[in-house]
Amino acid sequence: MEKYNVDCVKENECVGCKACALICPVNAIHMKKNEEGFEYPVVSEKLCIRCGKCTVSCPALQEFEPAKNIPNNLYAARCLDKDVLLKSSSGGIFGVLAAYCIGQEGIVYGVAFSEDFHVEYTRGDTYADICRMRGSKYVDAFIPEDLIKVFLNDVSSGKKILFSGTSCQIAGMKALCRERGIDAHNVAWVDFYKCSGKVSSFLWEEQCKLYRKKGMLQEVSFRDKTNGWKTFSMYQRISGKCYHTDFLLSGWNKFLGGNFSRRKPCLNCRYSGGKSGADISIGDFWNRISLPKKWKDNKGLSVVQINTDKGAEWFHDVLDNLDYMGVQSSDNLKIHNECLVDSEGRKKFWDVFHNQGYDELCSQYARITWKEHILFGKIRPLLIKIGIR
Ligand SMILES: Cc1cc2nc3c(=O)[nH]c(=O)nc-3n(C[C@H](O)[C@H](O)[C@H](O)COP(=O)(O)OP(=O)(O)OC[C@H]3O[C@@H](n4cnc5c(N)ncnc54)[C@H](O)[C@@H]3O)c2cc1C
Repeated sequence: MEKYNVDCVKENECVGCKACALICPVNAIHMKKNEEGFEYPVVSEKLCIRCGKCTVSCPALQEFEPAKNIPNNLYAARCLDKDVLLKSSSGGIFGVLAAYCIGQEGIVYGVAFSEDFHVEYTRGDTYADICRMRGSKYVDAFIPEDLIKVFLNDVSSGKKILFSGTSCQIAGMKALCRERGIDAHNVAWVDFYKCSGKVSSFLWEEQCKLYRKKGMLQEVSFRDKTNGWKTFSMYQRISGKCYHTDFLLSGWNKFLGGNFSRRKPCLNCRYSGGKSGADISIGDFWNRISLPKKWKDNKGLSVVQINTDKGAEWFHDVLDNLDYMGVQSSDNLKIHNECLVDSEGRKKFWDVFHNQGYDELCSQYARITWKEHILFGKIRPLLIKIGIR
């Protein structure tokens, strides 16, 4: 098919970054949610002038050059500030980089909960702003077009900027800067070393409705460390009462690992780990290699991969705030993104959601079996406690 606009991009390729909608000179592209809750571009053939700008800014249609080989580029690391470490999902590397950026009068872009617990990209230039961005939210994050416009202005201002988000969103933002002729040398792009993928916001909205049946939803976290990092829990504060569920015993774990709940291209991610040009990639260091004893305290540890010279500079500038060690291999290969094309199964999943409701969907697709209760609820915590896992 002739590639004169992004209509040629298939659903299992489009990551929903919005670069196409913003680059279009005649506003012929708008984003629309599909029946799974993911946004896709809709092109008005009437308005389209076939300039092809949207296709050159589309990450799905780009080939990425392999990252330059930076020597000694892999680290196990965590932040020295115990409070930041506790509130971060892994080793608090984002928190350290973000605080450094703010300290340089810079601007940070990341993902936070809105007041009504929607998951959204946001902009911050104060310490309070970056606190809201801490912690992984395992949901497809909404990025407002206006925020992208503000971001492009910020980039042009020459201020130091940290953009932290999924690798595919970063690919879109980088392409947008390039096609607009904006020099983004002042931006440090921080992506995830591995990315399990973006779960539909439709499911998250329904999950929040379930929480609200118990009372007023005041706080949520996907990665609460009260019971430890490896045994992290889904946490909610509802009408003053705190609820913790081990993540592996929560239905959300099934949606995060499920093939029908995540955006289609997430099943075969080609962006994470700096492949699309992020300067630094961060992730959980689910260590199984020999590490210093001090790090086996179940409080969190990150893998940090430096992908560019700019990434090396930023990392060097924050080293005083980190406890770190160079490693050869992260042994972090727990997440397998498989391209399981089961369109029948996927259709059935979303039919159940729309026709029978979220409760029924959970009971069919997110039920925890008694074997999982024993394995994850009893045996695994014991193994972690005695240091075997
Ligand atoms: C959707 C998703 C999938 C991930 N999958 C893996 C994986 O498979 N393996 C692995 O090792 N690590 C994965 N991570 C990364 C990991 O969970 C930690 O976010 C990362 O290690 C950073 O931890 P931290 O302690 O340094 O910072 P934290 O304080 O935990 O910072 C989290 C950062 O993630 C950003 N963020 C939060 N939610 C989202 C979102 N929905 N979309 C985009 N950005 C977001 C925030 O802006 C913040 O910058 C994933 C993260 C996300 C958001």
